Amino acid sequence: MATNSSKEVRTRFAPSPTGDLHVGNIRTALFDWAYARHTGGKLIFRIEDTDRERVTDEYIERAIETLRWLGLNWDEGPEVGGPYGPYLQSQRLDIYTHWAATFLANGDAYKCYCSTEELEARREKQRELNQAPGYDGKCRTLSSDDISRYETDGRKPVIRMRMPDGETRFTDLIRGEVVFDHKFVPDFVLMRADGSPLYTLAVAVDDVLMKVTHVLRGEDLLSSTPRQIRVYQAMGVSSEDFPHFAHLPFVMGQDNAKLSKRNGEVSIAWYREQGFLPEAICNYLALLGWSPGDDVENISMDELVKLFTVERVNSSPARFDMKKLEAINGDKIRALTLDDFLTRALPFLLKDGVISGNADEVAVVRSALPIIQERIARMNEVTAMLKFLFVDEVRFDDESQSKIEEEPAQHVIAQALEALRDLSDWSHETIEAALRSALIEKLGLKPRVAFGPVRIAVTGSHISPPLFESMELLGKDRSIARLTAAVR
Ligand code: GLU
Repeated sequence: MATNSSKEVRTRFAPSPTGDLHVGNIRTALFDWAYARHTGGKLIFRIEDTDRERVTDEYIERAIETLRWLGLNWDEGPEVGGPYGPYLQSQRLDIYTHWAATFLANGDAYKCYCSTEELEARREKQRELNQAPGYDGKCRTLSSDDISRYETDGRKPVIRMRMPDGETRFTDLIRGEVVFDHKFVPDFVLMRADGSPLYTLAVAVDDVLMKVTHVLRGEDLLSSTPRQIRVYQAMGVSSEDFPHFAHLPFVMGQDNAKLSKRNGEVSIAWYREQGFLPEAICNYLALLGWSPGDDVENISMDELVKLFTVERVNSSPARFDMKKLEAINGDKIRALTLDDFLTRALPFLLKDGVISGNADEVAVVRSALPIIQERIARMNEVTAMLKFLFVDEVRFDDESQSKIEEEPAQHVIAQALEALRDLSDWSHETIEAALRSALIEKLGLKPRVAFGPVRIAVTGSHISPPLFESMELLGKDRSIARLTAAVR
């Protein structure tokens, strides 16, 4: 049989979607994808949903949709099929049952009748004696009498894997040689008393049956690797056919805590709502713990595929930096063509009720986008930026309201009105010239003091696209009407 090193690469992304996919999941998926594509191998997408109470159909669909939105694709998976399916673990339960029974028959596993209370009491004792926690092997050598007594008592056994003395040693492609002393890897449960499989059994069986050659996944799963290797051995897989492992470093939050669902702002759905572009998310996450060279900040999916190697993944934790992601997102927004920018902006304006989507509105948005393209870092900012074009009257927030009621704002607005009222050519150049002359040259005001109140009067906010362009877009009549309304 060919060994793993000469086989076609087969990686897999195997989430258990108990909610929306988060930053860590996506980074793993991206690396799995990049490795498969770089090597010309296959990417398998497998859903680990043996816990059907927490992994729902809705989460599964959302996971698929999110990955597609990000631009990832896979060769085998729940909706694309493939030669080793089904790719939902909940549809493979008989396979796990078969293997658990085989392990039992071969003596690799045994039935364990210890009750939860008994296990807890013994664990408590281990804690008191400062011993390594874990199953103590009590049911390893039950006699048939013991077994029939438990059975008569109505106890339902779990199936437990026998962990031999010794150690498990493997070379992690990122971390190098890793050794687990079996003193710290107690016999572990494969099947619950109700016959449902545990993660360690299902994941290992599937990786073998789906002919996975490379497991790239989060570092949190490193400690389950010796158990998975034990399952491979019990399945009769020879060591040169074990998958290679590469455990990706943790992604830490800004606060140095491990980024987890509890940190908030980790679900990719949130980033999408905020208007982060998929290409920015992929660019940023690709460089989170991996780099093709020093100081690389921009990378396309094509370059990622071309350059990705596991060897260049950093083994130390990566820090998630929102500011950096935002900067990259701004770069990607600026790189969009006008048509693409429009296509991506419209859903935000529609969702926020700024426009209803008719052709006139779309034309206005199209003409306004160039003036904000340099100014936003998240797509959802288009709402605040362009709302003023689509309202009959501007409404001021409290801060803006008090700003334009004070002097010299009232005087400034009155003077601006004077200067603009008779302007015949309404272009941003002539508007700017008229306002500069009236407010800066004649009144001697600083630009911020001069233009701030005008900006608020016209757009309703002190944050807006460039003022003179905004007024040109708004048109003379509406601009004059807004300035007039702002004078008490
Ligand atoms: N299903 C596991 C999880 O979502 C990952 C399994 C694996 O990559 O080995 O945590």
